[in-house]
Formats: sequence, structure tokens, C-alpha cells
Amino acid sequence: MTAYDPTFEPVIGLEVHVQLATRTKLFCGCANAYGAEANTQICQVCTGQPGVLPVLNEQALRLAIRAGLALHCSVPEKTKFDRKNYFYPDLPKGYQISQFDQPLNVGGGLEILGDDGALRTISIVRAHLEEDAGKTIHPDGMGFSLVDLNRSSIPLLEIVSGPDLRSAAEAHRYLDRLKNVLRYARASECDMEKGSLRCDVNVSVRRKGDPKFGTRVEVKNVNSFKNVERAIEFEILRQIELVKSGGTVVQQTRQWRDAEGATVAMRSKEEAHDYRYFPEPDLPTFTITRAFVDAVRAELPEMPDARRARYVGALSVSEAAADTLVAERDTADYYDRCLELGKGLDPKELANFVLGSVLAVANERGISAADVPLRPETLVEVVRLVAGNTISSQAARMKLLPAILETGKSAAVLVKELGLEQVSDRGAIEAIAAEVIAANAKAVGEFRAGKDNAINALVGNVMKASKGKANPNLAREILLELLARG
Ligand code: ADP
Ligand code: MG
Ligand code: ZN
Repeated sequence: MTAYDPTFEPVIGLEVHVQLATRTKLFCGCANAYGAEANTQICQVCTGQPGVLPVLNEQALRLAIRAGLALHCSVPEKTKFDRKNYFYPDLPKGYQISQFDQPLNVGGGLEILGDDGALRTISIVRAHLEEDAGKTIHPDGMGFSLVDLNRSSIPLLEIVSGPDLRSAAEAHRYLDRLKNVLRYARASECDMEKGSLRCDVNVSVRRKGDPKFGTRVEVKNVNSFKNVERAIEFEILRQIELVKSGGTVVQQTRQWRDAEGATVAMRSKEEAHDYRYFPEPDLPTFTITRAFVDAVRAELPEMPDARRARYVGALSVSEAAADTLVAERDTADYYDRCLELGKGLDPKELANFVLGSVLAVANERGISAADVPLRPETLVEVVRLVAGNTISSQAARMKLLPAILETGKSAAVLVKELGLEQVSDRGAIEAIAAEVIAANAKAVGEFRAGKDNAINALVGNVMKASKGKANPNLAREILLELLARG
């Protein structure tokens, strides 16, 4: 983090747009899908032809409310759409249907870890529903621009935070949490690279202790969480220097320039758009019944914080493992399914297997835990084989699970085929242990001299001599017995 004059305090608020994961667009039946050929997912409605009428997509309304509820917002009974008027080549209607004074969700909050190490709730002022614009493309070195309207009218939720963040790092944590919660709610993929999450950053500075906020600057369209941090740090320094040198911050929209690592002025308050909002005449004011809100609330899964607390508390999973398990809902769902199927198995052991053998594969292949071709049923079966001493934990991780992934054969068949069955026959292990004791005078001597963990080397040798098949606990027990006998 860049150091700045500590007599100043930054104030930050974020406006985040997320595309809702509906099947179709907000006011027509065109597909809401990323990556199609330009202008193949359009119709008269989303290209703003005269005489067409918008029809509200119920699924968009559901997802927007689901996201709002996940952010602890309340949903007023009446919700209204308004026209936000401006001209842009990728906005064929000449206005965007948005919400002005009666947004869908109001008064929520998101808990983050503050820089002081304490949990703090960042307020969510509102989260309203609106339509996306198309995309203008400027081909390199050409004297013209192109417009792709596939994105036009994709449903967006604009989530406006209060001016409650106090550092670039806090803003980053807010975005991480927001993404996590919205992905859990299956409201949005929140993939910045695909444009399904976009962020505008508002920054001001004031003298510490000053009850009034300073004048804010809005930085538009920053393209990664890392760059949100960089843009904020740049603005904090720029504004403090400006104030200290006797200047004043003017209310301005600025643009983040990645290559320069700087923000540059786009337009000032005087040049700001006057959007001339007015109620959308083609849509009624909607009444959101409590029954509808309750039905949407029932669609919400257990949220990451609650799951994390359950894993760490009731199941004694380590905090680090719990963090990784709840980072994505698919991983946590996978683990929960294993817990359900694997009653009686050690939850920590199950967690180790999910992280080490499922999530590891998911990360390697760039897929989610849900798409790893290893069902929770199979994983639990393997962990049972380990718990019952049929195979060693190492054989499960290193041999059996990779073989299941590769061949799709059942655990039982592969244990036989690969000869993984653990040797728990005392006689066989005793014979090997006796040989190991005879051949390792040094470790034996150390053990007898009181170096207790010299036993590990001997267990290791028994494992090696048995080609990994000896039951390690039994091997240890037998070695200790033989050594005690002298
Ligand atoms: P607008 O509607 O003009 O964008 P808002 O009042 O809705 O303005 O604020 C937009 C965002 O700016 C919000 O996230 C809010 O928290 C933030 N914000 C407002 N005032 C300040 C300020 N003085 N410093 C930093 N952020 C601010
Ligand atoms: Mg704004
Ligand atoms: Zn359409």
C-alpha cells in the first residue's frame, strides 16, 4: 500500500453493476449469453424499433430480489422503472430503462473485515434493476467504429454502497465479499473478464476528524479488482497533494488508464449529463407481494459466513480449510453432500479429500467442483476404504483417486486391479518389521537412546519394503512391540 499523509482520511463508495444470470434479456426473449457472434441476439425490442413495448422478465426480477435479500436489503412494496435519457451510439432507444426514486432493493449491508481487524458492515444504499447498453467496438487503426447490440437490454443490478470504505484494501475486500455472496445466490457470475461485473469508484479525502465529506471524484469502468485498488490509491494521493498545495478537488468523472497507472479527467460537474429521468410510460409501477419475496427468500442457500462458522465450529475444520471450502458455492455444496453421505466419517478427513483431490483437479482444469468427474458418492466410498483400513490414505490420494478420474472405473474394481489393498496381516508385517530393524541399526540405536521420532524412519522403511501396502498404524505398533522386546 502506498503511504499518504496520515492527517488525511479517504472516503470511498462503490457502484457495482452485475449482469443477472437470466436465460433471456430484461424486456424481450433474446438470449442473455456471452460470446455469441455480434448482433445475433437481438430483436425489435432490444434494438429500440418504434412501436415496440417492453415486457418485464420475471426471472430477472427474482434474481434481483434474491441478490438484494442476500445483501440484507428490504424490498419495498412498490417498484417503478424510469427512463434515463442520453445519447450514445450503443443505446439505440436514446434512453436506458432504469430505476430512479423507487428502486427494487434498499437499505442493506455487507460485512467485511476492516483494516483494523474488526468486522464492519458496509451499507448498501440501494440495488436497482436496469438494462445494459450495447457495446461499441473501435477496431485498431480503422477509421470507423462498430456497434454490437447483443448486450443491449441484458438485465443489470446496480448495487450502490454507502461512503463507508476507508482504504483501497477495504474496497477490494468489499468486492471479494460481494462477488462471493452474489455467486452463492446464483444471481450473477460476477466475472469481470466477461464484463458481468463492472465497478465505478467514488473517492474523496478529508482532514481526519472533519465531520464533513470532501468533494468526490468518480472513476469509471475500472477493469479488475487489482486496478480498483490502484485507482483508489492513485486518487487518494492525487487529492491529498492537491489539497495540501492549496487547490480544491472538483467534482469530476475520471477514467482509469491502466498503462499509465493513473486516472485522467473525463468531464466535470458542469459537463455532467442531465438524464432527465421520468417514469417509464410503457411499464406499470409493480407491486411486489410479500408472498413473492418470501418465495424468493426460500431460494437462498446457506450463505458463506454461516457455512464457514458451521465447518469451523461443529466440525472442527481448520479456518484455512473452511475459507477455501466456502470460497465457491460449488465447493461448499460438494463438501456438504460428502458430509451427508459420509455420516460417521471424520469431517476433517473429508475436507482434506475434497480440497486435495476434488478442488485441486477443478483448479487444474479451470472448472468448478461440480464438474469434476468424481461424484461425492465415489469420494465418500474411497474415504470409507481409508477409514476401514482397506487402503492407505496415501494410496487413496496418489493412486486410487487419479485412477478413478482417468478410467471412470469403480473404486472396488480399481483397488483389486492396482493391488492397493492394505496389508493388515500381523504376521506379514512382523516379518518385514524384523528385517527393517535388523537392517537399520542406526535408527534403532537412536530410538533406544531416547530419540522417539526415529521410529518414523523405521515405519517409513516398512512402508517402502511393503510397496506402500502395509497399514502404517499397525506397522508402527508392531515395530514398537519388537523394539520393546529388545
Ligand atoms: P450519484 O447518484 O450522483 O452517482 P450518489 O450519491 O448515489 O451519487 O453516490 C454514488 C456513490 O458515491 C455512492 O457509492 C456513495 O457512497 C459514494 N459517495 C457519495 N459521496 C461521497 C464522498 N463524498 N466521497 C466518496 N464517496 C462518496
Ligand atoms: Mg452514480
Ligand atoms: Zn431482444
